[in-house]
Amino acid sequence: MSRVYNFSAGPAVLPEEVLREAADEMLDYQGSGMSVMEMSHRSKVYDKIIKDAEQDLRDLMNIPDNYKVLFLQGGASQQFAMIPMNLMKNRKAGYIVTGQWAKKAFQEGKIYGEAVKLASSEDKTFSYIPDCSDLAIPDDLDYVYICENNTIYGTKYKTLPNTKGHTLVADVSSCFLSEPVDVSKYGVIYGGVQKNIGPAGVVIVIIREDLITEDTLPGTPTMLKYKTHSDAESLYNTPPCYGIYICGKVFKWIKKMGGLSAMKERNEEKAKILYDFLDQSKMFQGTVVKEDRSLMNVPFVTGNEELDAKFVKEATAAGFVNLKGHRTVGGMRASIYNAMPKEGIEKLVDFMKKFEEENA
Ligand SMILES: *Cc1c(COP(=O)(O)O)cnc(C)c1O
Repeated sequence: MSRVYNFSAGPAVLPEEVLREAADEMLDYQGSGMSVMEMSHRSKVYDKIIKDAEQDLRDLMNIPDNYKVLFLQGGASQQFAMIPMNLMKNRKAGYIVTGQWAKKAFQEGKIYGEAVKLASSEDKTFSYIPDCSDLAIPDDLDYVYICENNTIYGTKYKTLPNTKGHTLVADVSSCFLSEPVDVSKYGVIYGGVQKNIGPAGVVIVIIREDLITEDTLPGTPTMLKYKTHSDAESLYNTPPCYGIYICGKVFKWIKKMGGLSAMKERNEEKAKILYDFLDQSKMFQGTVVKEDRSLMNVPFVTGNEELDAKFVKEATAAGFVNLKGHRTVGGMRASIYNAMPKEGIEKLVDFMKKFEEENA
């Protein structure tokens, strides 16, 4: 067996320890005589798995009691519709467009009501986060929507926007559990887990209770009402059982590593290794403004497409895989989520140094 250093943006690297544990439990989960994949979601054994997962997530993020935790399906993209269907009471919401995922959410929002673009960084190919300290925010907005970490472009909000009292909704798919958060500042925090937590197929929604109502837009399907899933504690229908089980293991792994403060420290240390190298390199450059750099997704270019392609090819052969940038941006992108060991980044930087020398 040989594992590569996987810099994929998602589905992405998971802690090796978690994968080994899951492998050990594959045929017989804790004496049940079956795999978690094979058991009823209504069984006692599974009930403990999902309840423990929720509790561990609550512990990690310090989630206040007046917030629900929902384990749903449909990818982060389904939330682009579920959010307006459930929250757009006045049929008007504000969106800050800082990348493709925010833009998709904004466009989806338009289907259900008036989606107001409050700010955008599209003028400079999403290479920065706009100043959101004093935006002109109409009073009658139902919520202000952001994508907190822009997976494709590699930017992250370092301070949350001033929503002037409006409910903040955040897509945190690619920065979930990468650092401590103050949940009380948000109405909804959600993310697909395949970036930083677990296998694709699970979306976690953390939502303040007063936002969960019967009063959804007409025609909202039962399955797309937060209330349906909240009332049934994420067991209205069969949930993505196995995915939730793996998420639960990752939560325990993060706890063991010291929780979110420790994760942040570790992530800062890891990202610094790569950014410091980029800042002094004559060949490779980071593509976003320094103040807004993400700790999770690091895009960079050589400025020469052929050289980029050569780099990606040689890196792959050397065991550093999935470094090709998003198809809309080009260049390279190293996604260095929680589970990427520091050693992976050190070795990548060594490889980049060598490549720079050889191709100078
Ligand atoms: C990957 C990603 C999405 C889309 O996730 P799906 O689960 O594929 O729908 C949405 N938002 C962000 C920030 C992402 O990184």
